[in-house]
Amino acid sequence: MPERTGPPALDVVYPRAERSEADILMPRVDSTFTFGSVNPPSSSLRINGVPVKVWTNGAFLAFVPLDTVTSQFSFLTVSPGGDTTRKALPFRLMSEARSKGFVTTHPLNQRLPARINITQDGAASRSAPGHAYVQFPPRGTVALADSFAAGCYRIRLANGRHAWIEEKFASLDTTYRDIPVVSVSTMAVRAQDRWTAIEIPLSLPIPFAIAEKPEVGMLEVELFGAVSRLNRMDYDPVDSLVWEIRWQQAEDNLLRLQLFLNSSRIWGYKAFWAVDSTTGRATLTLNIRRPPYIERRPLKGRIIVLDPGHGGSQPGSVGPTRLAEKEPNLNLAVMLKERLEERGAIVFLTRSADSTVELNDRVDFAVNHNAEALLSLHNNALSDGENPFITHGSGVYYYQPHSLDLAQTLRRYLLKGTGLRDNGLYYQNLALCRPTEMPAILIESAFIMHPDEEMLLRDDRFLSRTASSLAEGLEDYFDREK
Ligand SMILES: [Zn+2]
Repeated sequence: MPERTGPPALDVVYPRAERSEADILMPRVDSTFTFGSVNPPSSSLRINGVPVKVWTNGAFLAFVPLDTVTSQFSFLTVSPGGDTTRKALPFRLMSEARSKGFVTTHPLNQRLPARINITQDGAASRSAPGHAYVQFPPRGTVALADSFAAGCYRIRLANGRHAWIEEKFASLDTTYRDIPVVSVSTMAVRAQDRWTAIEIPLSLPIPFAIAEKPEVGMLEVELFGAVSRLNRMDYDPVDSLVWEIRWQQAEDNLLRLQLFLNSSRIWGYKAFWAVDSTTGRATLTLNIRRPPYIERRPLKGRIIVLDPGHGGSQPGSVGPTRLAEKEPNLNLAVMLKERLEERGAIVFLTRSADSTVELNDRVDFAVNHNAEALLSLHNNALSDGENPFITHGSGVYYYQPHSLDLAQTLRRYLLKGTGLRDNGLYYQNLALCRPTEMPAILIESAFIMHPDEEMLLRDDRFLSRTASSLAEGLEDYFDREK
């Protein structure tokens, strides 16, 4: 903790104006939080006339009613010597959100139906424009768009089933007004070093969806616009992962494949297209990660990627005494790396200095290093209107079903390590939780905006306890594969 001397001061970290102080935009909430620090720490502080606790290091955190009469936050500090500091932060209320319908009157609709081609990696389709992600069609996918609204094409999947995809991910090809029925006549299983590949040749790279069923050790693939002519499937005699492939013509134009695995866990997978540029024929390859062979020391040889959140020009959340999240994220990662290496793991960090790394590059790093587990390390903050005295502590996030076991296991060990309030388990579509190639989770050790927790994040003993406990948790997780 820095020694705080010098003249009386009031540092309001949040709310923060983007450019000038007149720029603070508040959502329409009854109450919200404000935090920062005062100097000297023995000063008293009132916000909007109400006394507020000041921590021993000068930090403060308050949950105050939004004063919509004066439209400002008013701060008053009085030092023990009687010096007063006043500050007023005016704010504006955000305008009411206008509801957007999915009106299909855009002129593009006159050119539809037509084909679209997915031209980018990382494309996502949604349940409705601006709504939840449902699938992640790889580059090369060809789909039939039947309408356009709110910047998104609506693509046809099966009878009555659609998905929406943002215009920026696709190119429109109006020379084709339909998609022919695609028949599937063969497929093959091929064992490789770390993966088992399922190869499905198709005359066109049509939309597909993969659903995980880890509870029964099964992956389900839906091919939209496909009809089965399957009378042969080639298993690989040396493969030990794929137990059985079953198919079902679920609807006229929906072929469903069920891949039953010889494994009680799904360790990750990746689907991609190989398209022959002259014939347009495509092979859908689904790589399924083979379970790791666990030795007597469960972490020996396991490849683990740790991702210290933010860094460089991206500080992340900032605490009341201006501790930037990127710092404890990296400190914890470095300590956890040591603990894991002591147990025999091979550990890589997405950044090992205070450098700027983009989200996609972090995910690519984990994939390229063939991570068998990906942990993104963060510290939390709240959105306007949430009460920081109710919501704080340690939490864990996951997105893919096969990552849930890792999330639940490490949540127990995280709570044991931090000793903080249980902030719970969350399903959330976060970039670092989204990869399918390995179990991937995001850990929020503490709430950096909470003065008690910010203090702990400056304390190496706290980080060291947390790192040791997470290392034990990873050992437990891999040990259960034996
Ligand atoms: Zn963060």
